[in-house]
Amino acid sequence: MPEKFDVIVVGAGPAGAACANVCAKNGLKVLLIERGEYPGSKNVMGGILYRKQTEDIVPEFWKEAPIERPVVEQRFWFLEKESMMSMGYKGKEWAQEPFNNFTVLRAQFDQWFAKKAVEQGALLINETVVLECIQENGKVIGVRTDRPDGDIYADVVVLADGVNSLLAKSLGFHKEFKPDQVALCAMEVLNMPKGKINDRFGLEGNEGCSVEIFGDATQGQLGTAFMYTNKDSINIGVGTTLSGMIRSKVKPYELLEYVKNHPMIRPYIHDGEPAEYLAHLIPEGGYYAIPKLTGNGVVVIGDAAQLVNAIHREGSNMAMASGKMAAEAIIQAKANNDFSEKGLDSYRTSIFDSFIGKDLKKYKDLTHTFESHPQYLNEYIPLMNRAASQFFTIDGTPKREKQAKIMQSFTAGRGKFGVAQDLYRAWKVMK
Ligand code: FAD
Repeated sequence: MPEKFDVIVVGAGPAGAACANVCAKNGLKVLLIERGEYPGSKNVMGGILYRKQTEDIVPEFWKEAPIERPVVEQRFWFLEKESMMSMGYKGKEWAQEPFNNFTVLRAQFDQWFAKKAVEQGALLINETVVLECIQENGKVIGVRTDRPDGDIYADVVVLADGVNSLLAKSLGFHKEFKPDQVALCAMEVLNMPKGKINDRFGLEGNEGCSVEIFGDATQGQLGTAFMYTNKDSINIGVGTTLSGMIRSKVKPYELLEYVKNHPMIRPYIHDGEPAEYLAHLIPEGGYYAIPKLTGNGVVVIGDAAQLVNAIHREGSNMAMASGKMAAEAIIQAKANNDFSEKGLDSYRTSIFDSFIGKDLKKYKDLTHTFESHPQYLNEYIPLMNRAASQFFTIDGTPKREKQAKIMQSFTAGRGKFGVAQDLYRAWKVMK
């Protein structure tokens, strides 16, 4: 009789490792399967890790985890071709315990995070691809892997295999994602001495800075660019919906080059030494794209369940939180000896009752609205830039006259009614 586990977790990213950790900590026999050479070897993230959901798995993780810098400043840039408007927040309280966010390099962080699950008793096997779920009488009873004699059995299989979850798709939990439900993102890690990073971003010691960049960075397509400071490197990247990339006929690496050479960005990174180039999909379908989350003997977590809040660039935290919620449901199912869809249903209700379901519901129409009304990115951001330029240019024009001219420039293209409609629509999808 082949070996049987209580739980098999497919994928050792933040979702899978969090789930494996909590299950193992509660005495379940857990197998964590990763296709990469080691956890993180195949994983990509801009780099912001959230304290709360990580701490829920490993208390005070910052004392031992391979984090880069605690983020003390969040900047938002709205780019035109040769200008930008900016806003943000910097707070020294974020430089101290318990901190807020951190920058991390996933290849290092994921290895460490999976090791914490192993320390709790989970068995991790790398370089093993799960090919399919084994089913019997409408119930998932294990997984088929690419190893010789590779069938392994469990009461519950957790699908944490990331954005393009072929396993959930093959179970009929979701269809092929549409191009407007995923973003394609390209990024580089640029090596740079710590002192230079601190001087350029106005940082002290190990403080970190995150910059989210909108407007011309994506050449009018729905998406964002980013710059995050590591200890002695900078992560820079850009992504747009796949539909946007198809429409604009721009290739991801061309867009990244464009961003790196933008006059507002170039001074920060021009002499950075390329260390890594990465590209990956991000699930951006939001609330409407969440697939079926539980079945008989199976649950879907993290990116595989499309749990990403693109507007707040939250993904790793939702992955960990969903992993924990799935683990709690599995522990309960074990106590009741009921691994049916009904027996695991508390996972689904936990997701929709938590910040994950509530936040994704709040922004459920945002992507579609901004994608079908491109004026928000390619008309209003340039208008905001020109308005700021006019207002701050001291040329002897009285301020009231300037204000009137600026108001006219906003209504000239779309009319007063059009602008009012745009404002109302934006408020409705963001409220
Ligand atoms: P993943 O991290 O994708 O892990 C899935 C794992 O499953 C991988 O290790 C993979 O190798 C393994 N796997 C897949 N298929 C199989 C199989 N068949 N058999 C065995 N193993 C398998 N989120 C943030 O919170 N902050 C950010 O700053 C941020 N920036 C981002 C920037 C970019 C460019 C991208 C692409 C994403 C970003 N995200 C960010 C999102 C974040 O990376 C994801 O939400 C998060 O990684 C999801 O974790 P996961 O464990 O669900 O999936």
